[in-house]
Amino acid sequence: MNSKEKTAYHEAGHALAMIHHKRKFEYVSIVPEGRFLGHVRVNEPGREIYLGDLVIDVLVLFAGIAAERQYLKTKYPHKKFNESYFFNPIRKDIHDIRELTRAFFKNEEEELRFLQWVYYRTDQKVIQMWGPIEKLAKALLKKPVITYEELQAANPILN
Ligand SMILES: [Zn+2]
Repeated sequence: MNSKEKTAYHEAGHALAMIHHKRKFEYVSIVPEGRFLGHVRVNEPGREIYLGDLVIDVLVLFAGIAAERQYLKTKYPHKKFNESYFFNPIRKDIHDIRELTRAFFKNEEEELRFLQWVYYRTDQKVIQMWGPIEKLAKALLKKPVITYEELQAANPILN
């Protein structure tokens, strides 16, 4: 399993979900840094969180996992994946999602129902955006750091 390729799809998923929701970022990178294989650098300190936004925040965070999952399923159609690999609570994205949502719900059952609903939406979005996600992932494998401006200039990636 090519983990560089998997990372490229994962980060492309985050980046395209952000672009789709008009969220600006500085760059998307698949250069390993510390324990992270890649990241999307955002510079938006102190942004207010309210429920309308929470859905988008969670969707953007889930989009990496959803894109990675879609990539693996496409690449290895006969392999049976253990879903707990994707939703492992020690994964940074899952950890960050729970940090965001925990305070919003009275109990874990409601929270998990909300997360399931957002994940379902994320999956649908990722499938809709698969063309651009794939283009960006392939571009990242050639050039491991791509800025928001470069992406805006490269319209063929986005459309
Ligand atoms: Zn991620």
